[in-house]
Amino acid sequence: MKKILNYINGELVEPASGQYLDNFDPSRGTVYSKIPQSEFQDVEMATKAAEKAFPEWSAKTAKERSKIMLKVADLIEENLEKLAHAESLDNGKPYKLAKAVDIPRARDNFAFFATAILHDEAPFYNMGTSGFNYTLRQPIGVVGCISPWNLPLYLFSWKIAPALASGNCVVAKPSEVTPMTAFLLSEICIEAGMPAGVLNIVHGLGPGAGQAIIDHPKIKAISFTGGTKTGEHIARIAGPKFKKLSLELGGKNPNIIFADCDFDKAVKTSVTSSFANQGQICLCGSRIFVERSIYDKFKTAFVERVKGLKVGPPEENDSRMGALVSKDHLEKVMGYIELAKEEGGSIIHGGNKVELEGEYSNGYFLEPTVIEGLKYDCRTNQEEIFGPVVTLTPFDTEEEVLMMANSTQYGLASTVWTENLNKAHRVAGLVESGIVWINCWLVRDLRTLFGGMKSSGVGREGGYEALHFFTEAKNICFQYDH
Ligand code: NDP
Repeated sequence: MKKILNYINGELVEPASGQYLDNFDPSRGTVYSKIPQSEFQDVEMATKAAEKAFPEWSAKTAKERSKIMLKVADLIEENLEKLAHAESLDNGKPYKLAKAVDIPRARDNFAFFATAILHDEAPFYNMGTSGFNYTLRQPIGVVGCISPWNLPLYLFSWKIAPALASGNCVVAKPSEVTPMTAFLLSEICIEAGMPAGVLNIVHGLGPGAGQAIIDHPKIKAISFTGGTKTGEHIARIAGPKFKKLSLELGGKNPNIIFADCDFDKAVKTSVTSSFANQGQICLCGSRIFVERSIYDKFKTAFVERVKGLKVGPPEENDSRMGALVSKDHLEKVMGYIELAKEEGGSIIHGGNKVELEGEYSNGYFLEPTVIEGLKYDCRTNQEEIFGPVVTLTPFDTEEEVLMMANSTQYGLASTVWTENLNKAHRVAGLVESGIVWINCWLVRDLRTLFGGMKSSGVGREGGYEALHFFTEAKNICFQYDH
């Protein structure tokens, strides 16, 4: 059985405790590899290695750091199929999706930040004959990056790449649920010639290895993506220690569909935004609000299209949905389907486990599920489910849909569907979310800001915002001596 190892000080090493956790293949429900159960001692070793590597790494020119990171990007590209197979096996997502989205994006994350540092600028404030000020951005030192299981390598690299590019050394922990591609990344970093200690990857549980990272006094900044409850906990620990914090948390995203939309595109994209990656993307729309005059037509077309989504083995080319990531998560999502029924909802499609045959008979497969008839403020419509479950709700006015869309504690992403330019931008300005897509979904430009408001997070990732998060800004003032 394959054994994952920690990546500390440039080497692949066993956890100090010698203990390993089981790693499950969610499509078969079987253990297929072992994960180091790292604790404080491993994080301590990783932090020491990072501290030691920092002076040399931070003193490199942007061009020198860029070169090593671009090598990592190239190796990710060369290993596209291997990484996509590993991601699909570890997470349960369709191989096709991992190959088209997850791995290319991980490659792009490294390439983007590796080249962005070559073009960064800093403000300069001229005070005329008396002097001037400029902003000096310096790397922080050792930083911690903690990521979730839904887009494993994609989100892991989205943090690590800007941290490294800015000149920091990193102690990172991927989700224990999906650690495999982070392990393969350590092998790639060794091959790319990443200096020892610059990037350290410690595997293990949140309350063990994760907690040790957020607690560690030498780790000066934490970039975290995960659930809102975990984010709250991290803020409570890291806040009083005055660590810099970037928190990308949960969502309950609305799709707002007006009667004057491009109907076919709105239906097609809403199906994708509901069920891509089994609905396990923080940006998936889970509450679909449809203007009453087209509600029945939309519902019929939407459900018709959902019926065409094949739930099947992740490796099969025509599987549009694979397995949910774990047994616990499947049970959680199914619990919400039961709750929706108790709250008076009607399941108009799905709602059940999918029983596949043969080797996949113990996999965690669930039908794409569509629910209607719920109040906008019931628990099903307020709490994050993070699975292939969406609700349909009619609305009459712009004011009403904004009230419903903005009623949750979350504010991550939203979509607005209308051909009326004024309405599109008016609603986009009023909806409470960090990202708004007009007549599209998940169209990404890595230069743009990414993140949520309210309980969906603190701070923004993406572009220079991410690079700057991983620096301390210093104002330097000079006065001429006349
Ligand atoms: P969790 O919050 O459970 O875990 C996220 C990471 O934090 C994991 O690596 C986890 O480790 C670790 N962790 C857990 N407890 C601690 C702790 N006490 N100290 C330090 N680290 C800890 O989230 P999930 O992995 O379940 O991911 C799903 C969530 O992520 C959803 O809420 C989703 O909305 C959100 N998300 C947000 C995104 C955004 O950009 N806003 C993007 C993608 C997902 P372990 O897994 O080993 O327990």
